[in-house]
Amino acid sequence: MLPLDAFKSSLTLPSPLIPFKPNWEGASKVSLFVKRDDAIHPVMSGNKWRKLSHALTNPLPKTIVSFGGGFSNHLHALGFVCHKLGIPFNAIIRGDYSAAPTPMIEDLKSWGTRIDYVDRVTYKKRNDNAYLLRLKQQQPDAMIIPEGGSQAQALQGIKDMVDEINIDFDFIVAPVASGATLAGIVSALNKRNENNATDTLHQTTRNVVGVGVLKGENYLEGLVEQFLPTSLGRSNWHIDHSYHFGGYAKAPNELRTFCNDFNHAFEFDIEPVYSGKAFWAVKDMLAKGKFEDGARIVVLHTGGLQGARAFHQSATG
Ligand SMILES: *Cc1c(COP(=O)(O)O)cnc(C)c1O
Repeated sequence: MLPLDAFKSSLTLPSPLIPFKPNWEGASKVSLFVKRDDAIHPVMSGNKWRKLSHALTNPLPKTIVSFGGGFSNHLHALGFVCHKLGIPFNAIIRGDYSAAPTPMIEDLKSWGTRIDYVDRVTYKKRNDNAYLLRLKQQQPDAMIIPEGGSQAQALQGIKDMVDEINIDFDFIVAPVASGATLAGIVSALNKRNENNATDTLHQTTRNVVGVGVLKGENYLEGLVEQFLPTSLGRSNWHIDHSYHFGGYAKAPNELRTFCNDFNHAFEFDIEPVYSGKAFWAVKDMLAKGKFEDGARIVVLHTGGLQGARAFHQSATG
């Protein structure tokens, strides 16, 4: 068991920001950088740490309850940190994997997580007040964290990531599922843009490009907006819906091949569920001239490589 401070000092923070120079069509006309949140920790997925970091403060919660699917990066990150900090953790998992636990679930078990498998109907209630109240009555000491770690506090942790980016840039690109990460980036940059409005030397507007990793035109925008003040509007952010490849965790062969080739060619790895779709999108947007010449583009690598292990058996090509 580790004290929180000792755990935090085992993380690589700030995460590295590295120049990225692929020989892709159009790439030489822009400057690309990768914010390597995948490098924060070998087990703890990048944006999942960011989203949890402000929920985990001293005094630590007595127990934690959260939700996810059988391959969830969020449950994995949370299970790991609870194990390290000695916090009892209860994972409520959609579907019954008791006969065939995924590698993610095997990890949770090895970390002493209490696992409850629930059917899809029960799982759907995960955000309902009545259901949450009942959970709270059963486990009065528990902190209940929503699926994906996506709660209002999560935006603060994402802001920490944005604040670490110490170069000027025009675009930041990130994958979108629950929308909290994108919302965190938008709100952090909005603050930065406001501060710069009075600075005539730095009038740059920083634009946020989300890459939808599931089929969700309008739906994903709505998820992002529920985390943002209504006054903000959509002036400096949008989500591109051309790169979901058929839906969440759908990965046709061309995407898998792209990820494999990428992993051989570059110094860091991607996987097909999140980062693979984000980098594919960047490559395609560059080829289509979607960024002006000279644009400085930061691609956020949100981590999630643990999901790729499980992916080999679950993939639906
Ligand atoms: C959860 C996750 C995302 C999606 O983040 P949201 O905040 O849910 O939009 C992106 N990348 C990885 C690796 C993730 O695990």
